[in-house]
Amino acid sequence: MKFNPTLSRLKTYEAGKPIELVVREFGIEEKDIIKLASNENPYGASPKVIEGVHENAHKVSIYPDDSMYELKSALSQKFNIFPENLIIGAGSDQVLEFCARAVLGEGDNVLMSKITFAMYEIYALQQGANIVRSSCYRHDLDEFYDLYKKYNPAIIHICTPNNPTGDALDRDYLYQFLEDVTDPLIIVDCAYMEYAAYKDPKKSIDPKDLIGKFPNVIYLGTFSKAYGLGGMRIGYGIAQPRIIQELYKLRPPFNVTTLSLVAAQAALEDEKFVQETIRKNFEQMERYVQFALREGLEFIDSYTNFITYLFPSHLSSRYIAESLLKKGVIVRDLTSYGMNAIRITIGTKEQNDRVFTLFKEVLDGYKK
Ligand SMILES: *Cc1c(COP(=O)(O)O)cnc(C)c1O
Repeated sequence: MKFNPTLSRLKTYEAGKPIELVVREFGIEEKDIIKLASNENPYGASPKVIEGVHENAHKVSIYPDDSMYELKSALSQKFNIFPENLIIGAGSDQVLEFCARAVLGEGDNVLMSKITFAMYEIYALQQGANIVRSSCYRHDLDEFYDLYKKYNPAIIHICTPNNPTGDALDRDYLYQFLEDVTDPLIIVDCAYMEYAAYKDPKKSIDPKDLIGKFPNVIYLGTFSKAYGLGGMRIGYGIAQPRIIQELYKLRPPFNVTTLSLVAAQAALEDEKFVQETIRKNFEQMERYVQFALREGLEFIDSYTNFITYLFPSHLSSRYIAESLLKKGVIVRDLTSYGMNAIRITIGTKEQNDRVFTLFKEVLDGYKK
């Protein structure tokens, strides 16, 4: 048997640990487990979503509407764009994959930040492309420009707010960069934009404005984070039709399920719910800031629904993440990203109350 040689350069993506695994491995009861590892919305989805999914459950035997007419209409209205500007995927991850396959060939370069969403690298390597990274975890766009001149990348990834660091770019700074880089495909991944736009209007990027000014850019959004639909696998790309048409050639038929389409539509009809969860997110985020200050931990100012704590070298993030896991708190260790840090999704008030108690136990035990 022979496998494609590009696979030898690939690692399997390590997703956040599921609750089921912690139940099995540590014998902790499901109700005592706090999952803050994958940046899901801890308040869940709007009750309208649950209702919509129930009402449409009888449709499971029928293929979905492959034109995705209704959801495309709703998104077009929300963003003041046309359905021709949209492609909907099984998560924005699938749109990322289409982009890589549409653009990249063997030996092409892909430019991204030193520390950013892990799937950019995986999709690029799948196409036999090479990775070029900046030297700083923040998007230093002056350095990006120098690297663009030097390596002529076919794709440039911009993640704002960035995962797993939580920092976000000022719109004007990004736009300045985009004006000077007109040939590669630039993917602006805005998985957490709803949070950033709430916290600071200077970080807010409007997809219509973005693709109107920069025809080589695609904006990515998702329902997995603020909209609370991580389990439904649905996200979207917004770009000029010239780009969307090419991505469509790679899309498998019926790539998004009927119930996912229903859920996304219902979620869009209850923006009030989403905004309220975002408000609570930042209210609770402040407690994580205060906890870090009290414990003398460094953290990155976050424009998302997670916060990244950076540890001094004598405290191992892997050890801390494992100790929390044994107490039933699932967080994301960032050792594999080359950081001695953990990323914690901001939970509900009740979850966070317990997290601070358990976290303090871990830190106090460690320092002794
Ligand atoms: C979560 C996430 C995505 C995609 O999530 P999907 O569930 O595939 O829509 C994309 N980019 C970043 C930076 C993310 O954090």
